[in-house]
Amino acid sequence: MTLEFEPGDVGAVRRHLQVADPQGLLAPCGIDRVILGRDCVRGLSSVVRGVVGANGSGRRPKVVLLVDETPILRTGEDLKSLVEAQLQADFDFHKCVLSDGHPVLHASETVLEEATGLVVGADVVVTIGGGTMTDIGKVATHSAGDIPHVAVQTAASVDGFTDNVSVILRDGVKRTVPSRWPTAVVSDTETISGAPPEMNRAGYGELISMFTAPADWRLASLLGVDTTFHPATTELLAAAGHGIEKWSPGVGRAEPEAVERLTWALAVRGIVTGVAGTTACLSGVEHLVSHMLDLYHGQRGMPTGLHGAQVGVASILAAAAWEMMFERAGSGGVHLAKRWRLPDPANARRSVSQAFSELDPSGKVEAECWRDYEQKLHDWERSAGAVFFALENWDVVRKDLMPLAASSRLLATGLKNAGSAYRFDQLTPAVTDDLVQWALRNCGLMRKRTTVVDLLTFLGWWGPSDVEEVMSRAAEAWRTEVRDDE
Ligand SMILES: [Zn+2]
Repeated sequence: MTLEFEPGDVGAVRRHLQVADPQGLLAPCGIDRVILGRDCVRGLSSVVRGVVGANGSGRRPKVVLLVDETPILRTGEDLKSLVEAQLQADFDFHKCVLSDGHPVLHASETVLEEATGLVVGADVVVTIGGGTMTDIGKVATHSAGDIPHVAVQTAASVDGFTDNVSVILRDGVKRTVPSRWPTAVVSDTETISGAPPEMNRAGYGELISMFTAPADWRLASLLGVDTTFHPATTELLAAAGHGIEKWSPGVGRAEPEAVERLTWALAVRGIVTGVAGTTACLSGVEHLVSHMLDLYHGQRGMPTGLHGAQVGVASILAAAAWEMMFERAGSGGVHLAKRWRLPDPANARRSVSQAFSELDPSGKVEAECWRDYEQKLHDWERSAGAVFFALENWDVVRKDLMPLAASSRLLATGLKNAGSAYRFDQLTPAVTDDLVQWALRNCGLMRKRTTVVDLLTFLGWWGPSDVEEVMSRAAEAWRTEVRDDE
C-alpha cells in the first residue's frame, strides 16, 4: 500500500490510523492540528480563537504566553514581539518569562512548578520555542488541568513537539515522562528555516533513526520479547520519509520546501511515538549508542552533545550492524536456532560490571544498568520458544526485517547531503574511536530494549572483532557516495 499525504495533514494521519488499526490497538492521536507553512505564525490569533471555541461568557478569553529569555529572530524581526502584538489585540493577554539562571532554560522540577503556577486559570496557553520550551508547556498545562496548549515551534531539531510525553530533568538526570498532546502546533517555515543551522541538521540526524529503529522494534516483536509493534506506524513513517533523498540537500541549505518536509516528518514521528505508546518504534541501537555517549560525558563532567546529531551518526552503525547480521545469517535458519544461547547470569553481571565500573566507581550506574539488563534476559528466557521458532524460520523473519533497515551507505549519503554530522569526530564534543567502540560494544547492556545487538550477542557474534567489523563497515559507508541510479 502506498500512502501519501500533504505536510501538515493530521486528518490524513488520523484516517490512516482508523483504517490500518481497526481494532484500536494504538492510542488515539490527540493532537488537533499541525499548522505548517509559509507565514503561518501571522495567523496565530485565529488558531487560538479556534481552540477557545465559542466563549459564552462574553469575556475576552485569557491567553497566557509562556516563553524563555532567548531572543528568536524571524527574517530579521523579533518573533516574540510579533506573537505578542497579535495576542494582545485579541485576548486578555498575559506574558510570563521563565528563567532559571542558566544561559539555556532547563525543564527542571522548579521551572515546571513555576510554569504550572503561571498558567492556572488560563483559557489557552501559548509557548514559543524548541523542544524544552514545548515540553515545559505540555507539562504545565497538563498539571494545571489540561488547559489547551498551542505550541509555536522554532526549530526542527527534535520530534517531541507532537507527542504526549516530555523530557524533563529530575535530580539532574533526563527522564521521559507522560504529559499530554499539544492541542495545536504552529510550524512557521520562515521561523524554522532561520533557526541555527546545527539545530535543523541535528533534527535530520534524529529523523533518520526511522530507517533503522523500526527494524529493532519489529525484531523484538517477532521474537516475542516486546509485542507492541504495529504496522500502521511504520506505514506512516514510510509516507513521511518518502522522497527524502530528493529533499535532504535542501535541509543543509535551509531551503523552505526542504525544511517543511523535515518538520512534517519529525511531526509524524512524534505522532507515531504517541499512538504507539512506546519510544521503541523510533529508538533502537542508534539511540542506545547516543545514550551511552551521554552517560560517558555526564560521568566525566563534559557537556552533552546534540541528541539528534549523535543519533544520526549512530544510525550508520545501526544499519551496519543489521548488514552484518543479514550477511552472517545467510539463508535458512536452523543453524541460528541451534547457535543462540543466553549468557548465564553471573557472566552477564560481569559484563555489565566490566562495561560501567570504571566510568562510575560508586557502582550506581552499574546497578541501574544491571536491573534493566537482567529484566531483558528474563524477557528473552520467557520467550525462548518464540525465539527458537523465529530463528528456525529466519527466511520469513528476514523478509519482514529487511525493508525496515536502510543501507549504511544510503544513510551516510543523506547525512552528508543534509550538511549533518556523519562521522563521530564531527560531533561536539568530538567522539574518539575508542569511545565509539566502548559505546557500541556495551550498548545492549544499558536498557531493557531488545535490538539487533542483543541478537548478535546471543548468537556469539558480538566480540571485539565483530564490533570492529561494524565500525569498519560504517567507515566504508562514510567514504562511498550513493549514485542517483542506485
Ligand atoms: Zn531521539
